[in-house]
Amino acid sequence: MKIAIYPGTFDPITNGHLDILERALKLFDKVIITVAKNPTKQPLFDQEERRSMIRSAVKRYKNVEVDMFDGLLVEYARKKKATSLVRGLRAISDFEYELQMALMNRKLDSTLETVFLMPNEKYTYLNSSIIREIARLGGDVHDFVPEAVLKALTEKHPRKP
Ligand code: ADP
Repeated sequence: MKIAIYPGTFDPITNGHLDILERALKLFDKVIITVAKNPTKQPLFDQEERRSMIRSAVKRYKNVEVDMFDGLLVEYARKKKATSLVRGLRAISDFEYELQMALMNRKLDSTLETVFLMPNEKYTYLNSSIIREIARLGGDVHDFVPEAVLKALTEKHPRKP
């Protein structure tokens, strides 16, 4: 059984994240999406809210588990018996940070591979912080996020009539 971990902040999950998840599901028997606490990023949604939005968004997929973690990712992956980490690469701008993380994680656990997947090009400009910003300013983000996220964003930032 090939298990992969897809870790991230997911503040909130977007259709770009789901695109990567679908690709990962073609390669692995099971994908565990795990929400990092990430207090340094001061997320808009707390860890539990982020997990619950992901749960609603991935109901239609088989072989997906949604979880959260705090601490060292390689240890979490070992506990879950995962062989790989999945990350998305949108543009060259992602590359430097992602390479650094991947090499550091390999140093910490040489048996764990990081697998990079590229999303459909329509998602290459999409990220969670742009979504938060548009929603905060009252813009419409329904093309970019799953239903549960749209609802949660509208509750945080009620649209002006
Ligand atoms: P981080 O884990 O760096 O805080 P995110 O939670 O936003 O960031 O993203 C988790 C992973 O998903 C990262 O590898 C990121 O590059 C990837 N990702 C985010 N948005 C997209 C997107 N629109 N298309 C493809 N991959 C994405």
